[in-house]
Amino acid sequence: MQYDVVIGLEIHAELATKTKVFCSCKNEFGAQPNANTCPVCTGMPGALPVINKRAVELCIKAGLCFDCKISSYAVMERKNYFYPDLSKAYQISQMVHPLCVGGKIELSSGKTIRLNRIHLEEDAGKLTHISKSVGSLVDYNRGGTPLIEIVTEPDFCSSEEVDEFLKRVREALVFAGIAECKMQEGGMRCDVNLSLKPKGSKTFGTRTEMKNLNSFKSVSRAIEYEIKRQTAVLNDGDKVIQETRKWDDAKGKNLSMRTKEEAQDYRYFPDPDILPITIREEDIVRIKQEMPMLPKERRKLYEEQYLLSAQDSKQLTTNKYISDYFETCVKLYNVPKKISNWILTDLLRLVKDQEEYVFPISEESLVEIIKIVEDKKITKVIGLELLDKVITCKQSPLKLAKELNLLTIITDEQIEQILLQFKEENPKAVEQVKTDPKVISFIIGYVMKHTQGKANGAVVKELVGKMFVNK
Ligand code: ADP
Ligand code: MG
Ligand code: ZN
Repeated sequence: MQYDVVIGLEIHAELATKTKVFCSCKNEFGAQPNANTCPVCTGMPGALPVINKRAVELCIKAGLCFDCKISSYAVMERKNYFYPDLSKAYQISQMVHPLCVGGKIELSSGKTIRLNRIHLEEDAGKLTHISKSVGSLVDYNRGGTPLIEIVTEPDFCSSEEVDEFLKRVREALVFAGIAECKMQEGGMRCDVNLSLKPKGSKTFGTRTEMKNLNSFKSVSRAIEYEIKRQTAVLNDGDKVIQETRKWDDAKGKNLSMRTKEEAQDYRYFPDPDILPITIREEDIVRIKQEMPMLPKERRKLYEEQYLLSAQDSKQLTTNKYISDYFETCVKLYNVPKKISNWILTDLLRLVKDQEEYVFPISEESLVEIIKIVEDKKITKVIGLELLDKVITCKQSPLKLAKELNLLTIITDEQIEQILLQFKEENPKAVEQVKTDPKVISFIIGYVMKHTQGKANGAVVKELVGKMFVNK
């Protein structure tokens, strides 16, 4: 039997705030266990939460990125459940009145994925299971740090669509400064809900949920596995059970964890300690004004204003670091096309860690090198040499170029002298270049050799034309 795949996602992203969402403890990764805790985030009796305005604003910003409707009235609710990583025995989240409602993201195929909502909630602590005899350790540093949860409608039908969507979401959240989305630190995690239905059928099948997938690769693998597993179950005439299944990335399979709880099991109710949030139109206007340009807008700017190719614009905006670096350079020296070439061909190859881009040279220094080349004080080839030297010596390009004696300008007269010498040594080649333009590269090579690469190729070409071809 042929089946249609139906997938809906719940994505959690850690907000880039300095402090937690209901107390003033630091929101940071990697501190000593339980160093960042207080009576509020550990849920001591009588402690009172105060909502972090910045967290609310970042959640609204996320809503603005994805065309959600921003609520004018939102409520924090208690979601009750017991687990050792949650010392309050409830999580403060949103149920009936979330901050952002609806929304959408369009995929490159033109297909639209609808969002159901984006809401604000707090994260739980972290358990480390040591062994059966020792037991588990708990670290509440992450407890009470702010998260947004993005819930989609069940609109995906393949792992490829999910993959593109997740990358779009991450790109927007990072560019807008909402979340850093460091997947390896759990900064962005995804729950996959998946079901199958007979091809063309209108009724949805029973879904399973795989929680807390934290890499794009494991999301794709988990989806492919679950499609196969459910197909086999249905083909055997069995029923898919609605349950949470745990994906084991090392083993490449998933296992049943628990049968699915329903919303009513959590006994949600408005948190009596936190007032409802009212959002005024003027707040939304202000937050909108604070939004930095997103990748899509940046690509438009690069193509229309800077006249870059679509390909280059896309490459420059794969990452906020590169895009910001490029824009800083252009502000310092308005030659976008040249700067783009230097970044995409000469700097990118120097980056070792493909996850965390950092160029080994400052924007100011790169621009200085490009200027020296554009002013024809050195050739591009020597410019690249200078780039390497600046990176190793960490000195100013102009100073280094002078010290290393790279700046010697080769005059036209000097080139003419060398060309005359060439003519004496290679009379045949001089005849050939009149009819065969390919010989020019041989001549340029000769001049470069006799000037340690400091001659300008275009100038040599011009002089060869003048002296040997159109005499
Ligand atoms: P819960 O809050 O219990 O997890 P929701 O109804 O809010 O349940 O749905 C959670 C996610 O599951 C959403 O992303 C939704 O799109 C998705 N989903 C709902 N029904 C199905 C289904 N039959 N198949 C696949 N995904 C589904
Ligand atoms: Mg769920
Ligand atoms: Zn605290």
